[in-house]
Amino acid sequence: MPSVRRRLQFRRYRLPFRGPVRTAHGVWTHREGLLVRLEDAAGGVGWGECAPLPGWTAETVDAADAALRELGEWVDEDALDRLPSGLAALRGALAATRETPALPPEPAALGVAALLPAGAEAPARLQALAEAGFRVFKWKVGVGDAADELGLLDELCGRLPPGGRLRLDANGAWERRLAERWLERCAERPVDFVEQPVAVAPGAGERERRRADDLLQGLAAAFPTPLALDESLAGDGDVERWVAAGWPGFFVLKLALHAAPAATLALLARARARVVFSSALETRVGAAQVLRRAWTWSGERHALGFGVWPLFADRALDGPVAVPFLRREDVAALDLEAAWNALA
Ligand code: MG
Repeated sequence: MPSVRRRLQFRRYRLPFRGPVRTAHGVWTHREGLLVRLEDAAGGVGWGECAPLPGWTAETVDAADAALRELGEWVDEDALDRLPSGLAALRGALAATRETPALPPEPAALGVAALLPAGAEAPARLQALAEAGFRVFKWKVGVGDAADELGLLDELCGRLPPGGRLRLDANGAWERRLAERWLERCAERPVDFVEQPVAVAPGAGERERRRADDLLQGLAAAFPTPLALDESLAGDGDVERWVAAGWPGFFVLKLALHAAPAATLALLARARARVVFSSALETRVGAAQVLRRAWTWSGERHALGFGVWPLFADRALDGPVAVPFLRREDVAALDLEAAWNALA
């Protein structure tokens, strides 16, 4: 049987953020990536987004752009499956064009974790967000002086609404001793998890990587507060490795960066893993895919790491503006064609 040829189009973007975004890799003013559109002979259209995160993996938008040019406008299934494994975000984008999960009728809404700024502005911001209805708050640590940040932890706990919880994200900024100090401090406090207390630089050698893995497992075993992996899951095969190692903590999953989202989630579901679906600062096109997968997730529910919008200067690229609960109908209503048209 001849394989079905479909029309593949893509648009590259360089989108300014509404304001500077502080990340683990510095302050960013814009986001780069590609939207892809695949149309079949019957006129059915699928959407995908490739937005590798600089500093997380070696994948680049230039490499994805070149691979798409090489594929050309008319493609068959085999060609899409033959892309190199290093282009994980592009492979994930092309998978999304072909297998968008239907949005199930339930749940009606999913909780969203609010983002707190690093440093001394966090307590006042937490209070405002609590008044807006948020119950889970994510705070970036490992940014300023450790003693100052440890002092702020109690102030934040004191301002939590009833039932409120904190998530701390160190983005790998700590050494073992400092991580231990924080985890001792978190033990008696309403902290859901401490994310990525330590990490290795991308491209680090196998020995360094194994040392960091052992340290994370050791910390997870020694303290009652769960740990979460984020940076540790960025590379091809990382999720598989941590599942095989019996990781007891959370998986903060930037699913938009993964080559085979459906298979990755099936593996995590079989392992009964605790998964937090998280934004990679993608547009609504990539986010719509991830949110649909979050809706179909069969495991425990944890507040989504999608408290990022409004994010872009052009609202047509944003997802639903950060609210304590993201409603099913808001996800269903996301207009992906409008995002595509905004790049014309
Ligand atoms: Mg993180």
